[in-house]
Amino acid sequence: MFCVECGKETDRLVEGACIECFVRDKPLMKLPHHVDLQVCTNCGEFALNKVWSDKEVSDAAEEAALEKLSVIKEARILSVGSRISQQDPRTFKVDMEADLEIRGTEVRAEADTMVRLKNTVCKRCSRQLGNYYEAILQIRSDGNLEDSLRDEVVRKIRNEVESLSRNDRRLFITSVSEVTGGIDMKLSSIAMGKNLSRELADRYGAETKESFSLVGQAADGSDTYRVTYLVRLPEHRVGDAVTFDGKLYKLTYISKNGGKLLALQGFKHIFVPRADMVRVRVYRKREEMRTATVIFSEDGEAEILHPGTLEPVLILTPKGEKVGETVRFVDLEGEILYVP
Ligand SMILES: [Zn+2]
Ligand SMILES: [Zn+2]
Repeated sequence: MFCVECGKETDRLVEGACIECFVRDKPLMKLPHHVDLQVCTNCGEFALNKVWSDKEVSDAAEEAALEKLSVIKEARILSVGSRISQQDPRTFKVDMEADLEIRGTEVRAEADTMVRLKNTVCKRCSRQLGNYYEAILQIRSDGNLEDSLRDEVVRKIRNEVESLSRNDRRLFITSVSEVTGGIDMKLSSIAMGKNLSRELADRYGAETKESFSLVGQAADGSDTYRVTYLVRLPEHRVGDAVTFDGKLYKLTYISKNGGKLLALQGFKHIFVPRADMVRVRVYRKREEMRTATVIFSEDGEAEILHPGTLEPVLILTPKGEKVGETVRFVDLEGEILYVP
């Protein structure tokens, strides 16, 4: 076979020409003159392949250019490399080099383009900025909701939503507001509100209640709802002295199945199933307990200096306390009970 252009004898012809003649003066690979890259002005993410993602701007520019790269139909791309140079804050020049294969022969090709950043707002941000929400999580407490617990709960929810949103951009917190008696969190998803309220209920032994309200109709004519999840945290916290069926205990543990109580007389543990936890009542909050200094200690016994009377008092303890240590105690009808 002979090349129609140079007459060379060859066993591989492309459109009648040898590979050298076929590729000569022919753009094998093409990029448009410029490529627009959408960037969200609110979260800074880029739209690539119709998906919003968090990237370095140079990586995003390279990917945006790559999306628009085309090669002639006879060629197959073996590998692509690119060099990105910033022209101004919003423009990046992308030079691409590729190894192509045409009828078993490797050929090198080049192309370049300008990637320009275009400001926009992604759908998630526009919803968030538009105060979109489907669910309200109301965090309340049977007693006083301490700042530390409130902050802990809010932090937990924020962390949870942040990790969920990595896989599903429709999940976000619309707003967090302090209200009398607690916190209201507006959430973008009903399912997420339900899961979060369940998790809080399990972790803190809280009661939950949900209520629906009709807000309108979706484009397909179906009703759309908002759901309010009320999470009522019990007054008792781990560490508090509590009463249960007439006896005094320290609450040592709460899980979704119930709570563990340590008797302050005898120091034996009992387990209270979740359904019975409503009968657990706070006797003294841990932070409101009185403290005293140990002045003498032996196995199972210690002497403390009662801060009220300044008299030494013998108390029973589960383990040897150290002299000089500060311990908590509660009074029960004149009796001093040590709280581990
Ligand atoms: Zn030729
Ligand atoms: Zn955004």
